[in-house]
Amino acid sequence: MSSAVEQPPIQINLAWCKGCGICYTLCPTKVLGADELGKVTLTQPKKCTKCKICENHCPDFAISVSGGKKS
Ligand code: SF4
Ligand code: SF4
Repeated sequence: MSSAVEQPPIQINLAWCKGCGICYTLCPTKVLGADELGKVTLTQPKKCTKCKICENHCPDFAISVSGGKKS
């Protein structure tokens, strides 16, 4: 028996991320962090509450969150 691995609900398009820092500054559960270039990385995907703050605030539409509340 193998249980399906839960996919993180966050999709990141790094090509669109300019490293402004808005998403990982605002994420209430610190799911998101910065890589050495300041671009977004997923650090603790299991802590995501799907609040969509990151998706709603990214100026470059680089993040989308599946599931959760409709915005
Ligand atoms: S808010 Fe968007 S552009 Fe800014 S760091 Fe996050 S993903 Fe990148
Ligand atoms: S949806 Fe909310 S909890 Fe999940 S990464 Fe974005 S800001 Fe953080």
